[in-house]
This record gives sequence, C-alpha cells and structure tokens, in this order.
Amino acid sequence: MPARPALALVAHDAKKDDMVAFAIAHRARLAGFDLYATGTTGGRVEAACPDLPVTRLKSGPLGGDQQIGALIAEGRLDGLFFFVDPLTPLPHDVDVKALTRLALVYDIPMALNRRTADLLIDGALVLPASP
Ligand code: PGA
Repeated sequence: MPARPALALVAHDAKKDDMVAFAIAHRARLAGFDLYATGTTGGRVEAACPDLPVTRLKSGPLGGDQQIGALIAEGRLDGLFFFVDPLTPLPHDVDVKALTRLALVYDIPMALNRRTADLLIDGALVLPASP
C-alpha cells in the first residue's frame, strides 16, 4: 500500500484561530493525510477536530519547527502550512526563515497564510510533485 501523503501544520499564537478554522473547514480533505503539527497548534487542531489524528511534535519555540524541518529534509512531508504572525516579534523568528529555506530546497508546497492554504488544500498541489 503506498504511503499516505503527509502535511505539517504550524501557527503562531495570533494565527492559531485561523489554523483551527482552516482545519474545521477542510477536515474531510485533511483526513486523507498524515498530519504533523507543532505542540500547541496540534493540540488546538485535535481539540477542534478530534477525528483528525495529529502527530504532535515539540512546541515551536522548543524545537518543533526544527523537527518539521527534519521531516522535510528526510523527504517525509508533502506540504507545509505555516500561518505566520507578521506583526509580533518572536524569539523563534529565525525558524520561519529556516523552514522557508528547506521548503525551497526540497520544493515543498508551503502556505504562509489562510488564503494560500485554502487554495493549496482545495487543489492538487499538495500531492507529491511529478518527476
Ligand atoms: P506551537 O508552535 O504550535 O507549539 O505554538 C508554533 C510556533 O510558534 O512555531
């Protein structure tokens, strides 16, 4: 049986409500993916959508973003949904840059806001790229 495609969900604090709304709106589609999330984001998504199993990694500021980077480097992620707060300086701002760089290196579809995420999840863009 082929492996299911996998997505990662991350949201800064000011964007967690957006991520929960996104998960609720697309829960049927998201159910077709293995889902990974940073700790707090994953907890919020699981609470809103208990039917969606989410593998929760460490909280972002404690290394969860880096764990998602490792999944990308290992070729285990087919899409990254990282809802970034552009208005608040955060101690782990560098993680956004690091994840963006890895998504570019490995040509992973990446959505940084809700509108782009809606477009990606509704289309076929999260399916593995053709050779
Ligand atoms: P969190 O991490 O889901 O644990 O809050 C997200 C982040 O801020 O990178």
